[in-house]
Amino acid sequence: MINFSKKSYPIPEQDPAIRRTNFLESQTGYTEDMAICEAMRCLKCREHPCMTSGCPVHNRIPEFIDKICAGQFEEAYQILMNTTCLPAVCGRVCPQEEQCEGHCVRGIKGQPVAIGALERFVADWHRNNVQDQVKEKITPIDKKIAIIGSGPAGIAAAKELSEYGYSVTIFEKEERLGGILTYGIPEFRLPKNIVKHEIDLLKSKNVKFECGKTLSKELSIQDFQTKLGFDAVFLGFGAGIPTSMDIPGIDLKGVYQANDFLVKVNTLQDNNPLGRKYDTIAVVGGGNVAMDACRSAVRTGAKKVLIVYRRSESEMPAHVGEIKEARDEGVEFAFLTSPIEIKGDANGNVIALECLRNKLGEDDSRGRRKPVAIPNSNYQIPVDCVIMAVGTTADEKLLKEQGLEYDAKGRLKVNPETLETSIKGVFAGGDNVTGPKTVISAMGAGRIAATAIHNYLSK
Ligand code: SF4
Ligand code: SF4
Repeated sequence: MINFSKKSYPIPEQDPAIRRTNFLESQTGYTEDMAICEAMRCLKCREHPCMTSGCPVHNRIPEFIDKICAGQFEEAYQILMNTTCLPAVCGRVCPQEEQCEGHCVRGIKGQPVAIGALERFVADWHRNNVQDQVKEKITPIDKKIAIIGSGPAGIAAAKELSEYGYSVTIFEKEERLGGILTYGIPEFRLPKNIVKHEIDLLKSKNVKFECGKTLSKELSIQDFQTKLGFDAVFLGFGAGIPTSMDIPGIDLKGVYQANDFLVKVNTLQDNNPLGRKYDTIAVVGGGNVAMDACRSAVRTGAKKVLIVYRRSESEMPAHVGEIKEARDEGVEFAFLTSPIEIKGDANGNVIALECLRNKLGEDDSRGRRKPVAIPNSNYQIPVDCVIMAVGTTADEKLLKEQGLEYDAKGRLKVNPETLETSIKGVFAGGDNVTGPKTVISAMGAGRIAATAIHNYLSK
């Protein structure tokens, strides 16, 4: 039976006026009945563009949705697990409107099927109702693999490689595991108990973890290969070095990099993560990190939180849903605005952001219209805190020190088929190869790298 409603079943969420005061998950997710009702909107299209053109890992979308229609939720989960290992995460944080849902046929004359919410439902149902079984006894392979970074690429690679039978150790520079899933994405979008569950699953597969250790001058690739005796190394440490804006006042008290701010928020999860309160916070940037930062800033109790973005709303790289959620929570937006200076008082505290107004010019190389400053359009926004969310890049110094080849944008050069870097036996995947992308892209890269490493070690 098909549900011909043009609208998808609304995903239950906390009231914006309440959720802006807490760190609990914003959306509470479908119940069984809601999930079945929404699943019945799927036409099970023969071409299924949601899966072939939309989902980066080609999740078998019509098949898993069909199982939901039949109330067979565990079967739906098992179908998903053929192509993804983090459905509870991706169902929450994927940019579905650009990926699976953006290609859904139901979206042509109405709203697309809520594929992400259904994926999340299935994964949550499994976690709450089924005890994970360790797979039938795996024959151990006497080879050791080091994975650097415990984010989505590292988790995916570790899961696959441990299932082949390799001895896998993940090295994580922070105290806690999960990389961006733990330190970057706020609790209200991705509860940390879900990340912990995925890590616990890896532990049950005998994956070992070493926190506080990573690739560095003191612990080089050569050390991993010779002193520590690893047969292969996977670099899955992302691209987390913040790009700074070179404007006067960037070193004033009250200026933060979004990554540092989010680490503090995600570590403390209270409303005073910075150790002092700010009244008016400007977040500079228009991507998803900016959205996470501004929504977190709202939860610190600031009276006013403002996004400052140099283009217009339609050029914003952030997900449409995230922009809406931020707006619902009271975030304001200053579009076509570029900061040129951060003003401070005699004690070095931020007091204002000086900006220029822009208009839109020609398209840039990515097809987005360029911001063009309007001469003499300076104005000041009174703020006492500025959070910079203008992008991240790889740690080029580290890559250079290790003798790894990378391009002009700091992206590691790898063989596109084998994901092997310029150093034999060292593989890489995720943001450190592609530049900042999505969790699902990094997870997909981790899976591909696992196969490549297995082929390399099986030679
Ligand atoms: Fe959609 Fe992401 Fe799930 Fe793929 S992994 S089906 S893109 S939510
Ligand atoms: Fe179902 Fe939409 Fe995919 Fe068609 S495109 S199979 S309607 S989810």
